[in-house]
Amino acid sequence: MTGQDTGDLVADVVIVGAGSAGCVLAERLSRDPGREVVLLERGPDRWPGPEELDLGRLPIGDDSRHAVRHDTDLPGLAAARGSAIGGSSAVNGAYFLRWHRDDFASWPRGWDLDRIESAYDELDGPGGTMGVSPVADDELGDAGESFERYWAARADARPPEERWPVTGVNRVHSNRAGSLRRTAAEAYLSRALDRPNLRVVAGCEVLGLDTAGNAVTGVRAARLSVSAGEVILCAGTLGTAHLLLGSGLDVTGGHDHLGAFEHRGLAVFYRRRRPAASDMVLPTVLHTADAFEIRCYRDDLAAYIAGLPAVGAMVEVTSMRPSPVRLVDADARVRLEFGEMGPEVAESMRAHAGAAADMLNSPDFADIVVPGSVSVADVPGFSQHCWGTMPMGERTDRLGGVLGVRGLRIVDGSILPSGGCSGPHATIMMTAVAIGDELAGLR
Ligand SMILES: Cc1cc2nc3c(=O)[nH]c(=O)nc-3n(C[C@H](O)[C@H](O)[C@H](O)COP(=O)(O)OP(=O)(O)OC[C@H]3O[C@@H](n4cnc5c(N)ncnc54)[C@H](O)[C@@H]3O)c2cc1C
Repeated sequence: MTGQDTGDLVADVVIVGAGSAGCVLAERLSRDPGREVVLLERGPDRWPGPEELDLGRLPIGDDSRHAVRHDTDLPGLAAARGSAIGGSSAVNGAYFLRWHRDDFASWPRGWDLDRIESAYDELDGPGGTMGVSPVADDELGDAGESFERYWAARADARPPEERWPVTGVNRVHSNRAGSLRRTAAEAYLSRALDRPNLRVVAGCEVLGLDTAGNAVTGVRAARLSVSAGEVILCAGTLGTAHLLLGSGLDVTGGHDHLGAFEHRGLAVFYRRRRPAASDMVLPTVLHTADAFEIRCYRDDLAAYIAGLPAVGAMVEVTSMRPSPVRLVDADARVRLEFGEMGPEVAESMRAHAGAAADMLNSPDFADIVVPGSVSVADVPGFSQHCWGTMPMGERTDRLGGVLGVRGLRIVDGSILPSGGCSGPHATIMMTAVAIGDELAGLR
């Protein structure tokens, strides 16, 4: 692996982005020694180390070498993304929950539940690649314990070992090795690095796609270009959108932006009587019947992210229904412009925030919360989950091949054809495993 390559390379496949999906694809496609694979990653050559992977930190702050920020139209809020070998899996919250089975009802033919389950099993099953385990009772922290005690009397709970989530309390499952998050690079890329037909070039931001008519023939970076039979964009929803918007290809339906989706959420803040013990940021959540995820964060996010002002510990009430966001090209990175949430969602969000405030003011939280300190944010924020610009079955085929364009495939958050009731990480990786198997002829 090197950050020094220059010149013109020729490959069968060039993959852009060594993130959650790109590492899986690189491993799968390089299994055939006759296939020359080049993997390009903008993040630095140095793999994230223990200080970045510590579950007690989110390394997306001002000092981060392994993250970039995208501007948004929400005052004071930026979108962060991993820029590293491992991509966002190297900087995220290490919450690794499957979606609910019903979330796949609208996926295109070929995505049956047996296939989905076996791809998830590879990741989170016993001995699975991502080292997934449920948060243990003694890792819940005081807020997590009180949260689960409060909801035990009011909602169902999934047994912590069960891997499919339920409507009710879902103890978070986490991809980790001891106290460090386990990344897609460690799980997949590391075992392929010594293959002579795989070349990984880090510190290499792809600046554009080479096209000829409606075909993509390669990619360009500052120091190097790669001609390839197929270009696979795994640059994450935001990185891939930037390359698509600058490509001149007709993928926007004539618009100057790409439409995508986010999870919007309202924070319910409180002051803690004493600081929380350090551990993973989000130990337990409640999934409601009307598709909200009530997230019990362990502490103030300022305890996890360098440079973030302290605002208080929080419970977040997040609508898992897709909320619209436009990705508009702006200089080096796309900017996120949020649309209005529907009035019904906004109203339910306020009602759930009220219920979360009641919980924090209840006797179950009396030892944790400073009396009178609970407050609900004025404006909803968003999760770092943007997805769905190039959905399978609509703009791409069921394996991410871009419809109407030869030589271009997308395998990352862009191609999710629906939203899910849990965070996207496990499902993006599941998608990459299933597509990688099929492209590699393993199924
Ligand atoms: C701070 C944070 C916390 C999160 N927490 C959770 C969580 O706890 N649970 C959960 O389910 N989800 C979480 N997510 C979301 C989840 O991590 C992502 O949805 C998922 O990792 C995206 O995978 P991907 O393969 O689509 O993209 P990424 O993993 O982001 O990979 C894209 C890769 O492409 C590279 N790249 C981009 N553009 C270029 C270019 N032009 N040239 C070369 N390389 C390029 C990037 O550097 C990156 O390495 C979080 C996200 C963030 C940012």
